[in-house]
Amino acid sequence: MDNDQFNKLAEMLYPNVLDASFYLQKYAPRNVKGEVTRIAPSPTGFLHIGQLYQALVHRMLANKTGGIFYCRLEDTDTKREVENAGEIAYDMLVRFGLKPDEGYRGGHKEIGDYGPYVQSERTQIYNAFAKELVKRGHAFPCFCAAAENKEEILKRREEELNESADIEVKDPCRNLTLKEIENNLAAGKKFALRLKSEGDINKTHVFEDKIKGKKDLRENAKDDVLIKSNGIPVYAFAHVVDDTLMGTTTVIRGQEWYQSLPVHLELSRAFDFKPFKYAHTPNICVLDETTGNKRKISKRKDTFADVRFFLKKGYPVNAVIEYLLNLLNSDFEIWRKNNPDLPYTDFPFDIKKIGVTNPLFDFVKLNDISKTIISKMTAEEVYNNALSWAQEWDEDSYKIIKENKAALISVLSIDRGGERPRKDITYYSEICELYNYVLPSFKADYQIELGEVDKASLTEFLSAYADEYTEAIDNTAWFENLKDIAARFNFVDNKTYKQNPTAYAGNVSDASKFVRLAITGKTNSPELYSIMKILGAAECKSRIKILVKNLAD
Ligand code: GLU
Repeated sequence: MDNDQFNKLAEMLYPNVLDASFYLQKYAPRNVKGEVTRIAPSPTGFLHIGQLYQALVHRMLANKTGGIFYCRLEDTDTKREVENAGEIAYDMLVRFGLKPDEGYRGGHKEIGDYGPYVQSERTQIYNAFAKELVKRGHAFPCFCAAAENKEEILKRREEELNESADIEVKDPCRNLTLKEIENNLAAGKKFALRLKSEGDINKTHVFEDKIKGKKDLRENAKDDVLIKSNGIPVYAFAHVVDDTLMGTTTVIRGQEWYQSLPVHLELSRAFDFKPFKYAHTPNICVLDETTGNKRKISKRKDTFADVRFFLKKGYPVNAVIEYLLNLLNSDFEIWRKNNPDLPYTDFPFDIKKIGVTNPLFDFVKLNDISKTIISKMTAEEVYNNALSWAQEWDEDSYKIIKENKAALISVLSIDRGGERPRKDITYYSEICELYNYVLPSFKADYQIELGEVDKASLTEFLSAYADEYTEAIDNTAWFENLKDIAARFNFVDNKTYKQNPTAYAGNVSDASKFVRLAITGKTNSPELYSIMKILGAAECKSRIKILVKNLAD
């Protein structure tokens, strides 16, 4: 076919469709100096931790360069669409502090001059660009009715060809004449639009990925479908058209798209579009519990794949974000150490420092970051955050936290502030359990593990301590008092005593361990002196006596 025939064909396939040039003028190039990045969630499920990780790259890159980060909803897979998934995805971005500057905002809301930002509302635009591609001789209609039928045809073709045939697949419909096409259309046959690939598998694109570096990529030589027979574009087509019209400068997306990049490059070239910069991020992985092998985080196996997991658990959002930053740029940790009080947004993020190997998600590290972040908050901040967490996720805890404000703030205030604040809270959902001993529902009625301790002398010590305990004025006096009383008893574990008899007298660490157990039921708690003050002498004495009684049973 010659140019005239291509133009005719374009009119036949897409009558009454505006020219692509209309949209190219309508969406004028952006006047931004920095990078324009975008997140493009599909509403087929929840926002995945891997998407949050990418969104962080988008946000940081746009921030660092004075650019724009926008959101586009890719809702072309209507079969797999989950109700409200788009809204939830947007909401999650906002909640994790990665609010896009522009684009889709959940529901029917959007903001910005480059919309519509929802793909299902862009059919006219896709038609215009489909028509343009036909005019340029880079696309053709394919009338094979059922996909199964098509597969068969292609399979037969492949079998007929030699070994490398699987990558050089030219579709049989590319050779239809104008007349044949006209007849098919007159017969009411539906068509899918395919790329008329000009790629050569013996040639490569020389290409530089912002993360993977310089690469030689074998050209695409397949006549891939661009628009399905129901008029819905496939990812490749929508990506190239949308990202061009919306002015994306760097396409940052998951590793899984890297394989199909040659098609995207060929399409951009077919349109004469300016090529994008691309960055394909590594996948966050876990070690599989059964095989012990590294694998991608799975929606089915890993509950934390859904970012709501972290909110439900009560992690501060910044803990998750800082952890992800740590996975992205390994020098973040050093920067954080040197700049403990700066917001993470001040970190000089560098896309080039993202490693190519898939990082492992490590809860130990995340928890440590989370503990540090919570340890730097004031008691009131922790309390208010825990209350908001409970209000959203846990009705019972909400009631408890709300009704015990004073006690909780008192216990949260212990060991807080100063150079080395206490790092005992990992997430808000553990507060009621962690500090249950200051709550009215607490029952001090428990049995304890004695280990090698001599039960009789421990009982004597605890009884004496319960009798003699008075609220001390300060910590030092409290400690001296405990030491003095402890020195009168031999409850220290026999083995230790035999090894080092001089260490025995006044073994205050054992003494305080058992008093702590009596008061809190735990081996670990904030400063005991302060807890005892919060509870008051009568309550403390009563708890110690309950333990004494339990030891006797
Ligand atoms: N809708 C695609 C996805 O959710 C977007 C990929 C991209 O960022 O280009 O995977």
